[in-house]
Amino acid sequence: MPEGHTLHRLARQVQDLFVGRQWRVSSPQGRFAAGAARLTERAPDSAQAWGKQLFIHLGPDIWQVHLGLYGAFSFRGDSSFTGAETLGAPRSAAAQLDPQYDDDGWIVPEPPRGEVRARVHVPNGWADLRGPARCQVLNPMQYEAVIARLGPDPLRQACPQTDPDMLQQFAVGLRRRRISIAAALLDQAVIAGVGNIYRAESLFLERIDPHTPAGELTDAQITDLWDRLTELLRRGVREGIIRTVDPEDPHLGLRGADLTGAVRRHWVYQHQGTPCLRCGATVQTQQLQGRRLYWCPGCQDRSARS
Ligand SMILES: [Zn+2]
Repeated sequence: MPEGHTLHRLARQVQDLFVGRQWRVSSPQGRFAAGAARLTERAPDSAQAWGKQLFIHLGPDIWQVHLGLYGAFSFRGDSSFTGAETLGAPRSAAAQLDPQYDDDGWIVPEPPRGEVRARVHVPNGWADLRGPARCQVLNPMQYEAVIARLGPDPLRQACPQTDPDMLQQFAVGLRRRRISIAAALLDQAVIAGVGNIYRAESLFLERIDPHTPAGELTDAQITDLWDRLTELLRRGVREGIIRTVDPEDPHLGLRGADLTGAVRRHWVYQHQGTPCLRCGATVQTQQLQGRRLYWCPGCQDRSARS
């Protein structure tokens, strides 16, 4: 599933390519026909991500897109349609386009392939949305209700300082819940934008046992975890991938290179059954509420620290 960094990159892309320009919106597949009819022939005002959701504002209307597990936008256009790349679930690289234009000077898009829920089109390019978990137009009241259910998103802080209100909201959210910190980090009402990889890696880096009750974390642990997630998510936005292992990390040694010689991207995520790069203990995995949890019992041992 795309995590928060992907949605923030997507919002930036939509902002760059479409905001302020009159667009045409259609639903080749038909399931978003009414929404598309409402949005077409208008110019979006802004595009913003909040956690794993994208909100495109057009006056009082807000187009909400949640990519879910399989959703993705693909972008195609001529050479002036810059920044074009596929975000979300990976899809095959697009072939070179030989652009054709109609009498109005608009690029002629390729016929939609597969189940295209929504297509947005401007004179120099277009984007196709496939497979979203949610795609609908909200009014301001509906939008407020959606936002009210979302926890703070570390990527919505003013750079580069920690926003004390958001950190406070995160802390209150954790204290209120009688669940483990691992479960809390995937609860989008506690913190928005964290998925399975950021959960595993941030808890490892902060040496927090994922089974620790969320309400038992100390203030210092909460602050450090928030700051760590902020740093990791910002890095994800910059690099477009999730990389938590720093090749320069002194703990890494020669064990940073796996059997194929490739440098490891993650400390524990999907490395169950192999020795921890820091302490040598065997990385563990377990099913928790339908998602896999990964941790190192050596580095993340609650009883040893208290
Ligand atoms: Zn370890």
